[in-house]
Amino acid sequence: METRAFDLVVIGAGPGGYVAAIRAAQLGLQTACVDKEAVLGGTCLRIGCIPSKVLLESSARYQEALTGLAQHGVRVNGVSLDLPAVLQRKDQVVRALTKGIEGLFRKNKITHFQGTASFLSPHEIEVRGQDNVRLQAKHFIIATGSVSAPLPGVELDGERIVTSTEALSFAEVPRRLVVIGAGFIGLELSCVWQRFGAQVTVLEYLNRILPGTDEEIAQEAQKIFTRQGLKFHLNTRVTSARRVGGHCVVEREGAEPLECDYVLLAVGRVPHTAGLGLERLGIALERGRIPVNERFATAVPGVYAIGDVIHGPMLAHKAEEEGIACVEGIVRGHGHVDYDLIPGVVYTHPEIAAVGKTEAQLKERGIPYRKGIFPLLASGRARTLGETEGKIKVLAHAETDRLLGVHLIAPHAGEMIGEAAAAMAFGASAEDLARVCHAHPTLSEALKEAALAVDGRAIHI
Ligand code: NAD
Repeated sequence: METRAFDLVVIGAGPGGYVAAIRAAQLGLQTACVDKEAVLGGTCLRIGCIPSKVLLESSARYQEALTGLAQHGVRVNGVSLDLPAVLQRKDQVVRALTKGIEGLFRKNKITHFQGTASFLSPHEIEVRGQDNVRLQAKHFIIATGSVSAPLPGVELDGERIVTSTEALSFAEVPRRLVVIGAGFIGLELSCVWQRFGAQVTVLEYLNRILPGTDEEIAQEAQKIFTRQGLKFHLNTRVTSARRVGGHCVVEREGAEPLECDYVLLAVGRVPHTAGLGLERLGIALERGRIPVNERFATAVPGVYAIGDVIHGPMLAHKAEEEGIACVEGIVRGHGHVDYDLIPGVVYTHPEIAAVGKTEAQLKERGIPYRKGIFPLLASGRARTLGETEGKIKVLAHAETDRLLGVHLIAPHAGEMIGEAAAAMAFGASAEDLARVCHAHPTLSEALKEAALAVDGRAIHI
């Protein structure tokens, strides 16, 4: 087997890994990136963020044509769904973006190996698969991401009882879909298939949806999604899901079994570290994750880890930040990620977005705060769009007025949260945000109004 040598080898070509590889090449390191898949981009591009956003967009447009356009006086007849065309467009978008990464790798002279990587020593891995090669390097970054968490009793068959991977490519619209888990994945895919015509029932173990999200926003979201047609059963522990003849049966504690046609399991993701040979390096996982210090270094010199395999939220943009900080740390001696300012977005309709602390976190830590709320109903722009559901909430320190958290359920919330994150990164107060001139009429004015509301000075409520 051939042996090649590099300054840095990144294991995993998802958003954490490929971004780390590009930054390393920019900084002059001879870099290689290994992925077991032929297609670059990892879960996010192939079977996660990107394809799900395509389906969310297509299903929202279908729904708009069916029921939304009429409120604008636009009558359309004979609206129908061409699911194969929807799925084909999704694949095209994914292909274009993954090809884009191949181009970036070429431009930055990053060598790509396809195969499964396993450590032989802290300075050498073996790659087996399409490419069979040994790679030696001064530095390795593990960026192998995560996989769907299993649930005991739920018999995944890749066809009717599935994870998000298969639920991005159902060949037909399920008549009755049961979704286990009301987190990011469960809700986004529930909305997709509900809009395409499925009857969707969401089973959630906790007494609320979207754990970790600000509770008031989550409650508002549940109300809106219920009006849209989703059925929620909270406080529901699923004990099994299996195929019986032509349908599926989902059993839950303390209630009648549910019969349906498809089941989506979305109860979280777990770090993907199997097969890396970490035991040969003496790296022991902590609660399934690879322990690292503030420079993303594991206990083994030269071996680093970033993204879903380490602590923190499993988000593509968090992994990207870590990839860059890790490489800059290796080359320049310092890198930085502000874990207090990692935005989260759920791409439902309206979108849900947040940055900073929730009210519950502030209460828990005894931090005094004031809050400003602005309902979209009072936004001129929201009225013109015909999308007045939702609200914006700004949390600021009671004494210093410094922004502590911003939570939105609003159209385009995912775009608006960037302004809040930028303001917070510069240490802005609610007053600072409120004094910035926002164009009229825009949705971002509602953010300014919520900031004014912190001081009881909102103009339009
Ligand atoms: P999650 O942790 O967000 O939600 C899982 C849900 O399943 C939770 O509400 C949990 O209480 C529930 N649950 C757990 N066990 C259950 C049981 N036995 N019965 C019923 N409910 C049960 O996980 P997810 O939605 O699978 O997402 C996984 C990861 O992917 C998350 O870290 C998320 O941040 C990320 N993600 C992000 C986006 C985005 O940024 N838009 C989209 C999708 C996924």
